[in-house]
Amino acid sequence: MADAPKPGVQVDLNGQVALVTGASRGIGRAIALQLARSGASVACVARTTAGLEATLAAIREAGGTAEGFAADVSSTEDVNRVVEEVEAKFGGKIQVLVNNAGITKDGLFLRMEDDAWDAVIDTNLKGTFLFCRAVGALMMRQRYGRIINITSVSAIMGNPGQANYSASKAGVIGFTQTIARELASRGVTVNAVAPGFITTDMTEVLPDKVKAEVKERIPVRRLGAPEDIADLVTYLASPSASFLTGQIIAVDGGMTC
Ligand code: NAP
Repeated sequence: MADAPKPGVQVDLNGQVALVTGASRGIGRAIALQLARSGASVACVARTTAGLEATLAAIREAGGTAEGFAADVSSTEDVNRVVEEVEAKFGGKIQVLVNNAGITKDGLFLRMEDDAWDAVIDTNLKGTFLFCRAVGALMMRQRYGRIINITSVSAIMGNPGQANYSASKAGVIGFTQTIARELASRGVTVNAVAPGFITTDMTEVLPDKVKAEVKERIPVRRLGAPEDIADLVTYLASPSASFLTGQIIAVDGGMTC
């Protein structure tokens, strides 16, 4: 098996503020930690405070700065309130936005209930739109920003049982490409990262047999770790990545190549 990742992309985000949604566990927690290690003050957003507290503790233990904000990303009211709170807390600026919050409600589409469709679209796609709209306005005024939206290889390849999820994440791709064009002239880049199979709570529920089958389909022959995603997100969040926008980058061990 290939080596497990050793996170460590080095960028300088000192003096910057990063907002990360879905930061209470999994990929979002790894991203928040890595951005904090790079010097950013991190606003961590999720619905449950217990998970947020654990992320804050890990960041502070590593010497970083972070605050937690409880919100449902699919609520316009919550999103606008959180952005106002983050601005008030961190001096009116947000340089980095990572839209990572996401859910699955899997099932074959012929039997899919409206609720399962709506919940996944509202969280994964509408939530991304709401945060981009709220923070994008601020970034345009700043004439600087880095937006990174987390999509999925399911949006690129499709995945049986994930019609709602694939549609939501494909929506994130089109949305990312469009707003990248709208914001580019203002110094704001917008990119999407498409993780392959990453070991988190989201994938932990799958039977071992399915995980073994997935591993067979990954050319590097290992499942991904949250840090694999956090490293690329950290680079995209850096001032150095100024000529990179509107891109969809798969981090999937070669699954989609
Ligand atoms: P996870 O472990 O289930 O974590 C999901 C995060 O999203 C949690 O922090 C959760 O916090 C938050 N969240 C969910 N609904 C929310 C809402 N309505 N409002 C605010 N926060 C919400 O998932 P993960 O595996 O780390 O996935 C992170 C992202 O990567 C997702 O967008 C996912 O679709 C994507 N992705 C994952 C994989 C993978 O293999 N794991 C592959 C491709 C793409 P609360 O529950 O506390 O709100």
